[in-house]
Amino acid sequence: MSIKFKKLNNSIIKCKKCPRLIRFSKKISKEKRKQNINEVYWGKPVTGFGDQNAKLIIIGLAPAAHGGTRTGRAFTGDKSGSFLFKSLYNVKISNQNFSENINDDLKLDSTYITNILKCVPPGDKPLNNELIKCSNYFMFELENLKHLKVIVTLGKVAFDNCLINYKKKFKINKKFEFKHGKKYRLPDNKILIACYHPSPRNVNTKIVTSVMINQLFRRAKKIAKF
Ligand code: SF4
Repeated sequence: MSIKFKKLNNSIIKCKKCPRLIRFSKKISKEKRKQNINEVYWGKPVTGFGDQNAKLIIIGLAPAAHGGTRTGRAFTGDKSGSFLFKSLYNVKISNQNFSENINDDLKLDSTYITNILKCVPPGDKPLNNELIKCSNYFMFELENLKHLKVIVTLGKVAFDNCLINYKKKFKINKKFEFKHGKKYRLPDNKILIACYHPSPRNVNTKIVTSVMINQLFRRAKKIAKF
């Protein structure tokens, strides 16, 4: 890991800028979920992970209460992560079709995974000022993945907040519609692709299927050229 990313990740892990979210992470980690009652939860902000020469970045909104907040890695140890990694393995982005814990030997090819917000918000609803406070970390990741060509956002909230940061940085006022598979060229020439979130609700109602997600990531790989 580069020194830049080491420093960034250390700052994220120690960050306490949003007291409401830090309190919530601690509460979840103390109360725990029944099936994880004997585990020690991570209970701190969750950094991004993956290949620092990534051409593709996959972005969610925030770590899951009993997924990332428990295991310490985004999209790890929950149902959304499970569905996502079946697809990433299928399209040869990851070396395995599961993401269970930080010691599971998971590797990503040319891909980085992170969240807009590094702490879990109550009810999955972050406050505006929390998103603003955390945006520096997210923008640092985007700016320091020097080979980045394609951004895939999982879910509308991640899509909207990624664009809020871009609009601020590049002072643009264009409208972007969130629709699965829709792609946009951003002012820094990166390609943004909207993807429905692989949440159990979307999967169970077939709003998103493995065929749809596989196709989208195959396309993302092709555009990013890896
Ligand atoms: S959400 Fe971001 S800014 Fe807020 S405490 Fe967590 S890491 Fe820090």
